[in-house]
Amino acid sequence: MELPFAESYKIKTVEPIFRSTRKQREKWIEAAHYNLFNLRSEQVFIDLLTDSGTGAMSDNQWAAIMKGDESYAGSSSYYNLKKVIQTLFGFNYFLPTHQGRAAENVLFSTLIKEGDVVPGNSHFDTTKGHIEFRKAKAVDCTIDKAFDTESDYPFKGNVDLNKLEDVLKSGVNVPVIIMTLTCNTSGGQPVSMGNLKQVKELAEKYKTYVIFDSARFAENAWFIKKREKGYSKKAIKEIVREMYSYADGMTMSSKKDGIVNIGGFMAMSNKDWFEKATTFNIMFEGFVTYGGMAGRDMNALAVGLNEVTDKDYLESRISQVEYLGNKLIEYGIPIQKPIGGHAIFVDAKKFLPNVPKEEYIAQTLAIILYLEAGVRGVEVGTLLADRDPETHDNRYPKLEFLRLAIPRRTYTNNHMDVVAAGLKNVYEMRDEIRTGLKIHKEAPIMRHFTVELYKA
Ligand SMILES: *Cc1c(COP(=O)(O)O)cnc(C)c1O
Repeated sequence: MELPFAESYKIKTVEPIFRSTRKQREKWIEAAHYNLFNLRSEQVFIDLLTDSGTGAMSDNQWAAIMKGDESYAGSSSYYNLKKVIQTLFGFNYFLPTHQGRAAENVLFSTLIKEGDVVPGNSHFDTTKGHIEFRKAKAVDCTIDKAFDTESDYPFKGNVDLNKLEDVLKSGVNVPVIIMTLTCNTSGGQPVSMGNLKQVKELAEKYKTYVIFDSARFAENAWFIKKREKGYSKKAIKEIVREMYSYADGMTMSSKKDGIVNIGGFMAMSNKDWFEKATTFNIMFEGFVTYGGMAGRDMNALAVGLNEVTDKDYLESRISQVEYLGNKLIEYGIPIQKPIGGHAIFVDAKKFLPNVPKEEYIAQTLAIILYLEAGVRGVEVGTLLADRDPETHDNRYPKLEFLRLAIPRRTYTNNHMDVVAAGLKNVYEMRDEIRTGLKIHKEAPIMRHFTVELYKA
């Protein structure tokens, strides 16, 4: 008999979590204004709000923490991390930041100005926020297939090269193209090596640059290995190195594929960018050799970047996401296919066809799942899409998702069974769910974090 697959690690430390009653959850969610970000962690049984900063560190990472060098200038931890980044991505220059959005803030301060256009696949919310904050425009050039949740296309994170070229030749100023790996907004979907290469060729043709928004770069490399011709025998680190040969720089939220609880960085090959960014980094984050990170955290990140590019780790990781996804498919629940890297994206419009789009369909589903099972997911839909900066109308995205993001090395498949059963119960009562939520109060930008809602 063939031996079954099992995780490539065992558990050394555990943290208790508590089940609550539906009655308690009803009270808590009302007090939280139907915004899951406002819940306290004790009010959540299984937390799939995000895979950001929620992963479990390894014993080697904890050991590296003890050896952190907290010198203000010239910390050995900075040089440890610099060496790992150089080897993995091939960039000679790097600056640490306190998280990914800080890297965006610093790098965009040097690259993007009012009136610019920044195309790419679907931009991440903070990325788009930082572009729009500078009165520049983010243009989504993702392939149309990405918006058909039934399509099994293996690289739904790809850019449509015709759409991209239309932007590039339209006469607007494009300081940089941003490719998000994997593409969170379209469902944790990977970008193929072929697409990365062609984007770089187009950038060169139109004399502009390419940056990778790299939060889940290792998961992207895993999918290239599994799904793209010619890569099945290559090591993950080799694939990563080739991916980044098609970029001029990167921003990174280390809270995802760095497997640390906090941290970020930017890296680049261009010395001029580095020098300009250094000034902003010192102003916003901290001195060159720590920029917003403790020495111990830089050490843990250096170890995490090596662990995340290990094939056995990635197999464990992606298998767990698939395990949940396949259960949901078995129950007939509509999800984005193929199953992505870090999360399951439930197609909320198909799940709740009777809730009007003006009443935040995916948010409604997220709330009902929480009430049913104490599971916290997150809306990737109209709340997240925010209002048009000019007209201030709601932007209704093509897809309304409930995202169930799975933290790295944190939960077991028994937890995944609870999530699947909870969602199945909700699915069985979907016909009776006809009303959603309305907004009571919202912020002018990135409203989803703090919005207050009430039952429609
Ligand atoms: C998380 C994330 C960011 C922002 O990083 P933070 O560490 O949360 O500030 C940017 N881009 C992508 C793709 C991300 O997943």
